[in-house]
Amino acid sequence: MRTIAILGATGSIGTQALDIVRRYPERFRANCLTAHSASDKLFELVRAFRPDVAALVNPPEHIPEDVRFCHWVFGPDSTVKALLAAKPQDALCAIVGIAGLDAVWTALDVCQRVLLANKEALVTGGDLVMEKAARKGIPMLPVDSEHSAIFQCLQGRQGNPVRRLLLTASGGALRSWKKEAIYNATVKDVLAHPTWNMGGKITVDCASMVNKGLEIIEAHHLFQMPGEKIDVVVHPQSIVHSMVEFEDGAVLAQLGNPDMRGPIGYAMGYPERMPYEARPLDFAALGHLDFAAPDTDRFPALLMAIEALKAGGSAPVILNGANEVAVGAFLKERIPFGRIPEIIRAALDGVPVAPIRSIADVYAADAAARRAARRELGIGNEE
Ligand code: NDP
Ligand code: MG
Repeated sequence: MRTIAILGATGSIGTQALDIVRRYPERFRANCLTAHSASDKLFELVRAFRPDVAALVNPPEHIPEDVRFCHWVFGPDSTVKALLAAKPQDALCAIVGIAGLDAVWTALDVCQRVLLANKEALVTGGDLVMEKAARKGIPMLPVDSEHSAIFQCLQGRQGNPVRRLLLTASGGALRSWKKEAIYNATVKDVLAHPTWNMGGKITVDCASMVNKGLEIIEAHHLFQMPGEKIDVVVHPQSIVHSMVEFEDGAVLAQLGNPDMRGPIGYAMGYPERMPYEARPLDFAALGHLDFAAPDTDRFPALLMAIEALKAGGSAPVILNGANEVAVGAFLKERIPFGRIPEIIRAALDGVPVAPIRSIADVYAADAAARRAARRELGIGNEE
């Protein structure tokens, strides 16, 4: 039996992780559940999973009688306080954005293992987070499907050097759209992801291919791979979740129907697999799997992420911060979709790259990126 905190419990990853907890009550106890403001949803989860500690960033107007048995924490630092109070063995970090970085940092103080979905924590604080994890001997188990696939393939490595990592990309909702149409894609167009059902921010990131750029940076940190050894291949069916190439040209891949409970369960149970009634792959019905090079003319943000990784220092933080502002504005229908890469470009060009020596440096670079992005958008500081 392991205790686990589900940080971002009301989200897409959080609820699917709780589905695994529900299937294995003898293996996992969710002793800490956190969310931002979806209080009714969190109350339901608290009733069902009976954690010791629950947290909401936005305090609710009223706490129902039947959820008062657990310890409640509210406010901007509620996730961190909840972790410190619950002291779970494992933390599933599934908050979206740099907002989840503090939780990952604290989980490395409190927990035995960190299960990481929150890729932005590595994009922004990667060197510091991985150094702390290594220093404390805490495994960082990937939840992102591509990184889980690579992690699974690396189980067969047996000390051999890796030549290349190949990240697959679905290509998102606009994969086959023309350039001009992409520029003016609506929120509804962009949120219609062909193969995965995810939170809003990551679905927008998939359509712009920023997500794949963030994943290159995530893979660089998780697997200590230089950016030049990480390639992206577009694979619309999302059946091959990613691949590892060895020096003899052998390529190992991990395949499965797209269902995040696979990679979530693998991280939760590692090294044991957690069956969840996954649909078996029917190769004959699939018939074929398609692969193509990414089109960086229609999806320029992918190259910006590669450039930011190469530049190092605060450049990935700037990319991420500008993207978070741009995606927020797009989801509020304040800017066309095509402005997202333009805003990232403006922030990368306008904010000087600085070294990152501390978490405070990360937040300073993030704030500078957000200011630059808002200036470019012509909006104030309200979000
Ligand atoms: P969702 O938007 O569905 O869920 C986000 C969760 O985090 C919610 O519980 C939300 O609470 C909470 N949250 C949001 N903002 C804050 C904040 N500022 N402070 C504390 N809690 C907050 O996101 P996803 O589940 O889709 O994604 C989570 C992370 O996992 C992201 O980093 C994403 O890139 C990554 N990921 C997701 C995949 C997926 O399939 N969804 C696949 C691979 C990676 P509330 O509900 O109250 O707003
Ligand atoms: Mg992914």
